[in-house]
Amino acid sequence: MADKNLQKFKDVLRSEHLKVTPQRLAVFEEVCSTDDHRDADDIYLSLKQREKAVSRATVYRTVDLLLKYNFVSRIDIEDGKWRYEHWLDCTRHDHLICVRCGNIVEFSDKNIQIREKRIAKSFDYTLVRHVLNLFGYCSDCRGK
Ligand SMILES: [Zn+2]
Ligand SMILES: [Zn+2]
Repeated sequence: MADKNLQKFKDVLRSEHLKVTPQRLAVFEEVCSTDDHRDADDIYLSLKQREKAVSRATVYRTVDLLLKYNFVSRIDIEDGKWRYEHWLDCTRHDHLICVRCGNIVEFSDKNIQIREKRIAKSFDYTLVRHVLNLFGYCSDCRGK
């Protein structure tokens, strides 16, 4: 499965007339290596820690490309920075976001998904994507 995705990414690079470079592949690999929700700087720093020489600009551009081709999705936790997560072999989920510490919890609720489909159908829409983020205080932050 991973190889198939890597192949897909290489095809995307070629279709965008971009070279398949070790740097771009490293960004792809880094993004796919965890289920965390990270901003582009986090991804850059993690690559740096692993001693991969990838420039910040390359990280940003590659992440944009991954977004364009649905390898990643991004969520807005309303602090001015997009959080990215890879979207490979991913079962659909939604997010609970703490407005104080930025903690993100994933959840999945069949009933919500069924309702969404019904709503779309009643308005004669074919869904292509959806966003559901719930904002609040996590249990650690609530008392503060
Ligand atoms: Zn919190
Ligand atoms: Zn998520």
